[in-house]
Amino acid sequence: MEKKYNRVLLKLSGESLAGDEKKGINFDIVETFCKSIKKCVDAGVQVAIVVGGGNFWRGRSSGKMDRTRADHMGMLATTINALGVGDTLEQEGVDVRVMTAISMPQVAEPYIRNRAVRHLEKGRVVIFGCGTGNPFFSTDTAAALRAVEIDADIIMKATMVDGVYDSDPKKNPNAKKYDKVTYDEVLANNLAVMDSTAASLCKDNDMPILVFSVNEPDNIFRAVCGENIGTICEK
Ligand code: UDP
Repeated sequence: MEKKYNRVLLKLSGESLAGDEKKGINFDIVETFCKSIKKCVDAGVQVAIVVGGGNFWRGRSSGKMDRTRADHMGMLATTINALGVGDTLEQEGVDVRVMTAISMPQVAEPYIRNRAVRHLEKGRVVIFGCGTGNPFFSTDTAAALRAVEIDADIIMKATMVDGVYDSDPKKNPNAKKYDKVTYDEVLANNLAVMDSTAASLCKDNDMPILVFSVNEPDNIFRAVCGENIGTICEK
């Protein structure tokens, strides 16, 4: 198989890193993702990754905590995942740089756009931690923002479901899967592609999003080869 894209932004949710345990990092699963990511790099695809943090903490589910503080905790959670995925990729022989939107220079490089692009050009995988660096945003929005900033060809949103449905396929056995949806359909019908802030940013900047399942980890490689998996969201 040959690559279709030159530069992709892969969004890995926290949930996808946790496996059946639902919490923490399952390194056996992460390893399978990293093997597929290595195939992408070996095929000459530049890969940037935004990781979620929901396997450790989500600000919006924090009950009576101050939301800004809860979101700070969420951003730190994404950094734990970024370091875990980064280390696993290194074990696979991939060059990696973790960059964080909140400076913690003893731990990772601070996010500087031009540096990130330079790393990608040199064939390094760049993992973005801390989301956008701001509370009240999600890592989906961070994925949209970073994808636009680094001029990625597409956002590849790896999830636990194999695409976008008109209703929740876990609850409705007749739920219909879309091959393609427009940004306007996502926004008008609240489809579970990404939150509305992220979807608007993609719409305004014409950034396509492929939603696909990582229950089959090699789907990451199949997606960069342009195989017809999942649901594509574009204008
Ligand atoms: N977060 C934030 N700003 C951002 C991105 C993330 O405050 O730009 C926090 C927020 O609390 C969020 C948590 O980090 O709940 C983890 O991110 P997210 O819920 O998007 O992770 P996922 O659901 O993809 O695992």
